[in-house]
Amino acid sequence: MPSSENGKTQPRVIVIGAGIGGLTAAALLAHRGYNVLVLEQALIPGGCASTFQRKGFTFDVGATQVAGLEPGGIHHRIFTELGIELPTATPCDPACSVFLPGENYPINVWRDPEKWRAERERQFPGSEMFWDLLGILFQASWDFQARDPVLPPRHPWDLWQLIRALRPKTMVTVPYTLFTVGDALRAYKLDGDYRLRLFLDLQLKLYSQVDAEETALLYAATALAVSQEPQGLFHLHGSMQVLCDRLVESLQRDGGQLLTRHTVESIHVEKNRACGVTIRNQKTGEVWQESADHIIANVTVQNLVQLLGDQAPRGYKHRVAKLPPASGAFVIYLGVTAAAIPPNCPPHLQFLYDMNGPIGENNSLFVSVSRPGDGRAPTGYATIIASSFVDPQPWWDGDNYPALKQKFTDEAISHLSKFFHLTPETIVHVEAATPRTFYRYTARERGIVGGIGQRISTFGPFGFANRTPIDKLWLVGDSTHPGEGTAGVSYSALTVVRQIQASK
Ligand SMILES: Cc1cc2nc3c(=O)[nH]c(=O)nc-3n(C[C@H](O)[C@H](O)[C@H](O)COP(=O)(O)OP(=O)(O)OC[C@H]3O[C@@H](n4cnc5c(N)ncnc54)[C@H](O)[C@@H]3O)c2cc1C
Repeated sequence: MPSSENGKTQPRVIVIGAGIGGLTAAALLAHRGYNVLVLEQALIPGGCASTFQRKGFTFDVGATQVAGLEPGGIHHRIFTELGIELPTATPCDPACSVFLPGENYPINVWRDPEKWRAERERQFPGSEMFWDLLGILFQASWDFQARDPVLPPRHPWDLWQLIRALRPKTMVTVPYTLFTVGDALRAYKLDGDYRLRLFLDLQLKLYSQVDAEETALLYAATALAVSQEPQGLFHLHGSMQVLCDRLVESLQRDGGQLLTRHTVESIHVEKNRACGVTIRNQKTGEVWQESADHIIANVTVQNLVQLLGDQAPRGYKHRVAKLPPASGAFVIYLGVTAAAIPPNCPPHLQFLYDMNGPIGENNSLFVSVSRPGDGRAPTGYATIIASSFVDPQPWWDGDNYPALKQKFTDEAISHLSKFFHLTPETIVHVEAATPRTFYRYTARERGIVGGIGQRISTFGPFGFANRTPIDKLWLVGDSTHPGEGTAGVSYSALTVVRQIQASK
């Protein structure tokens, strides 16, 4: 219900979920004068970008590196509007060191564009025209995105935002809208370049959930270039939780409210208009209904359909049901002594151990290593976090769960031991997260993570819109444009905030 302050009516907004997407939307709306209530089912806000503590170590649950902190970057823009300080951060250089099977020297994705160009020429001779095309598409897409288009448009206002973001230069991207990275590799006769293909598969899987063959070329152009100056990937000091903590501070300063351990059980719809939610206080078991002018769901699109139950529009439900299977993640968190870390270890590494079969299921690991003094480990110690994409289904089948978790843990430690000095003496703490863990702490359906794969059929203009088919119900987070990552979900939050304001 609208509340009244200083004689003015403030529209009431309920945000379901305090992930980075939900919190960003909530903080911006509170700052712009809305009456905001955020409901979070977990004890700690932050979702996939939160942290936990064990034996003096701080572990980032999922996200470990952040894009969009540079001036003009999305976090920078939002924190500036909110008047809150950006977290202290160090640029990652190299952004990632990628080890292909059987190779002892990595492909280093340098932050300096010229250094990265030289590295590519050395690693993938003959591929420069392909990279030049990616560079052109990136620049046009990045400039376009900076003008805040609404994708995909579902309303005349959205369409207008899209049209006004277009420039003659944007048109260079149009012929490539239906191209995948695989198509571009074939066009440049690079499809036989095995190392290049493996490198792209590995890197793209991290950002787009799918390999080079399937990833939309326009999405890949951005994902592969965002780690170079003047953009960049950053390692936050303290932990990833800092991002979320600052947003909560801003929300509360501007009169917004966050209730943790409060689960939204359903969304109410009347005459195709969202009007309220049913809430359960997990501590007391109390259940009640709360009405609102707008409801923002910071959940996966699969969860949104569940929250709507019978009220979910049939076409929408059908589209969600037909989505290709989403990935889960297996993550191992190690607290180690500094002796486990080789000298000059880069902050982020990626390893492919086996060339047979799809990437994931522990045959590749994305690894983040803490740096001395970054607040994640006591002096003389470090954290190593390694993740791999997995099919979530086996983690839910039968009684095999403890054995499967142990098998993945042992395999991951064995793989990591090829690079790190891991022994019973150097390992202080071991813990693992599986799709069941992600389900428990983030409520994401079956523990799926990373959003909708950025295939042609689901990226940008063909993806799920922030504006749902139900009036006043908005979807924020990694199921929507421009996809996963704290930067991506912050764009999605900003879009919804602008849409809500425009609907006044
Ligand atoms: C292993 C892993 C590594 C990653 N690495 C990176 C990285 O390095 N950099 C990067 O930028 N991104 C990374 N990501 C992706 C990034 O973490 C996510 O895309 C992003 O944090 C998602 O934010 P969100 O707001 O969309 O959703 P979420 O983080 O899922 O937040 C949703 C919130 O809603 C709450 N919720 C859900 N349902 C309900 C309900 N019914 N009632 C109340 N509350 C509810 C959940 O508890 C959760 O807190 C990684 C993800 C994973 C899993």
